[in-house]
Amino acid sequence: MKFINPIDRFLGLFSHDIGIDLGTANTLVYVRGKGIVIREPSAVARHKKSKEILAIGASAKKMTGRAPATIEVIRPLRNGVIADFDATAAMLAYYIKKVHESGSSMPKIPRPRVVIGIPSGVTEVERRAVADAALDAGAREANLIEEPMAAAIGAHLPVEGPEGTFIVDIGGGTSEIAVISLGGIVLGRSIRIAGDEMDEAIINYVRLKYSLLLGQPTAEEVKIGIGSAGSPKESSAKGEKFAVVRGRDLEVGLPKSIKLTGGEIQEALSPIIREIVGNIADTLEEIPPELTSDIMERGITLAGGGSMISGIDRVISESTKMPVWIAEDPLTCVVRGCGICLEDNGLLKKMRVTKGL
Ligand code: ADP
Ligand code: MG
Repeated sequence: MKFINPIDRFLGLFSHDIGIDLGTANTLVYVRGKGIVIREPSAVARHKKSKEILAIGASAKKMTGRAPATIEVIRPLRNGVIADFDATAAMLAYYIKKVHESGSSMPKIPRPRVVIGIPSGVTEVERRAVADAALDAGAREANLIEEPMAAAIGAHLPVEGPEGTFIVDIGGGTSEIAVISLGGIVLGRSIRIAGDEMDEAIINYVRLKYSLLLGQPTAEEVKIGIGSAGSPKESSAKGEKFAVVRGRDLEVGLPKSIKLTGGEIQEALSPIIREIVGNIADTLEEIPPELTSDIMERGITLAGGGSMISGIDRVISESTKMPVWIAEDPLTCVVRGCGICLEDNGLLKKMRVTKGL
């Protein structure tokens, strides 16, 4: 065990230890003793040629689809792998520095310990690079934990005991399905079908049916506003929700508004929902027999923004014949799980997949 100098231990009480959810869609930052202090889109805007970074987070996302050709807005982790390492590192450094430097009225504030939740598809080499980027940004210790594990911890599910825990984290770029027992991921899969694909499905549906091109932010708004999972016949009820959207008419090239119903959005989303449910069902079939009865009893927990599509819990439950729960505040499970690991060194030591000192 590492000896911690009592002075360091004392100073540690003042350091801004940080938990970071490096999500494909959103980056959240938790500071020990303060809670969640940052929630921003995982986006970076930069000059295409010089690669100079112009904006990070919400201000970068706002430029999507509006920026001139010389500027690119990227989502560095979009597919659950680090597509652009420099942008990922810049984003990480920006948030670590922001927290570390803010409110440090003390002359020498100790450097923070950092726990980062990353998609499980990120390779060993990339993990190492993320840890190094955190250290370069001023962290005194960088620990990485896998997103489904962090989500389960944040949802207060048992992860260390022998009982099986089934967690599904439906994010923006990826859905992570995992079975956890004895502090490890027994079975897991990460698929590139989640919230972004739902937005794409809405865009395609509207393009084919109405020859109208919607922007991604509009499609996402419609999804959050009136999207649902379920069988089409359920949605024909009276008093159905609708949304008026504006896009570009592909035939005449001019802006046009149309009214979309909840039933249409449900129809557009159904192949995506089916794919997610199919992957959950396949994972269930692979569960080791010793864990099956625990999971049948305790069910499936959903986390991540995609789990907030209305009715998705019911659809999963109907097709798997299992109880399904949506975690409390699903968008913050991963970062709260990172926060819990910051407070509990023993837990962190078991959970981390890479450590840089
Ligand atoms: P990640 O962990 O990959 O960054 P998040 O867990 O933050 O992803 O979830 C982001 C996704 O959740 C986005 O696709 C977003 O559109 C979607 N989302 C957020 N809120 C809702 C909602 N109320 N209903 C449906 N989808 C939602
Ligand atoms: Mg996530």
